[in-house]
Amino acid sequence: MKNSRLRKVIELLSEYFGKPFDNNIRQPSVLDVLIATKLSQNTTDKSSYAAFTNLKKTFTNWEKAAEAGLDELKDCIKVCGLSNTKSKNIKVMLNDMIRNYGTLDLSFMKKYRTEKVYEELLQYDGIGIKTISCVLIFAMGKDAFPVDTHVHRVLNRLGLVRTNSPVKTFEQMSGKIPEGKKYELHSNLIKFGRNICRAKNPLCSICFLYSLCRFKEKSFYRKQKAPLNKGDNNFIILENI
Ligand code: SF4
Repeated sequence: MKNSRLRKVIELLSEYFGKPFDNNIRQPSVLDVLIATKLSQNTTDKSSYAAFTNLKKTFTNWEKAAEAGLDELKDCIKVCGLSNTKSKNIKVMLNDMIRNYGTLDLSFMKKYRTEKVYEELLQYDGIGIKTISCVLIFAMGKDAFPVDTHVHRVLNRLGLVRTNSPVKTFEQMSGKIPEGKKYELHSNLIKFGRNICRAKNPLCSICFLYSLCRFKEKSFYRKQKAPLNKGDNNFIILENI
């Protein structure tokens, strides 16, 4: 049964990668996480982290960024790609928020129900389910399940969902993950997807989820020996802002 397989996957991932950092100890601001996650779309963690720190160094606060010219914003984030769209989305969002709430301190949203946070933030262009799920975890200390490209790929290979987009994967997983395990599963699936179940040449030969996996080509990849580097490439921007 899918749910017992899911529980086993959660357990084995936890045994291998452990628990993620405690998201209640240090919480960056809602807007910091929102903008950092927005910048991370379609680029590497390293580039989006550079763009985020450029913004923070250039503007003493987000109100100043809201007043800045589009070119100035674009210049700050050009290192992370799609800077035209991202700078426009950020500027419009900041100004709309000032109009809507009279402030850019969005900490009042921490009191909202989870569904209300999704509803509220989805109104802004360029802000989707994944970004809001990251805000819930990293700025609000809640349990949520952001689905990025790694999470989407791994869950499909394991056969726990059968979808063609991260949004549909998010929807199919909704209600299936045991209470309190969403953030942990998200974090461990990213580490697993980066280091073992890689997009190209997955390391099926050393995979501890092999018997649970439904990926048709797993026996082909099992014959390929590849080195494992458990700690490689685990930098996650949201754990570092
Ligand atoms: S067996 Fe291969 S495809 Fe399946 S989860 Fe493991 S690494 Fe991924």
